Amino acid sequence: MSDSKGKLIIISGPSGVGKGAIINELFKDKSLNLAYSVSYTTRQPRNYEIPEINYFFVTKEEFLKRVKENDFLEYTNFIDNYYGTSKSYVEQLQKDGYNVILEIEADGASQVIKNYPDKAHCFSIFIMPPSFEVLEQRIRLRASESKEIIEARLNKAKEEFELQSQYDYVVVNDILQDAVTEIQEIIRKNINK
Ligand code: 5GP
Repeated sequence: MSDSKGKLIIISGPSGVGKGAIINELFKDKSLNLAYSVSYTTRQPRNYEIPEINYFFVTKEEFLKRVKENDFLEYTNFIDNYYGTSKSYVEQLQKDGYNVILEIEADGASQVIKNYPDKAHCFSIFIMPPSFEVLEQRIRLRASESKEIIEARLNKAKEEFELQSQYDYVVVNDILQDAVTEIQEIIRKNINK
């Protein structure tokens, strides 16, 4: 289907796998015409995060009000915090002709894949670490969270690995630039369909 509406690009993968670094690189390629879907979350901001750039940081009450108002394309509870993609925000970007990146975890990805089965509109990429040990090291090095949260994120990662078959593509992030190149090619192929 060749309308001017932008596509939905799901980029998923366990916490710490390097989704952020990959997405930063993808944005340097202006020919992909990308926009980032800024999610809502009830998590506390990390010290380097900027409100409205990284996330819309909201209270649980505000988040649940939006759920009631049906403003989420998908949402989930991930380690005791809510995360969700705003439908109106994404639709506006698509109308403006952008291909919209949804950087979301596996449960949210399942919801979007189910609701947008048409590959001409939505495709999904799962990013894998080269090994679980490498992922563990990356999460621990980030050192921005308590021991309990780190353990919870590692357990979540194991669950996410099991769901990798739900995605259209699986890319291993061993050498950042190689993963970026592979994903650029996937995106280029799919947005020009
Ligand atoms: P973090 O707390 O590390 O920023 O995010 C935790 C996980 O939630 C990551 O895997 C991240 O990609 C995912 N995430 C971020 N925003 C959303 C969202 O709007 N919906 C869903 N389902 N997951 C999200």
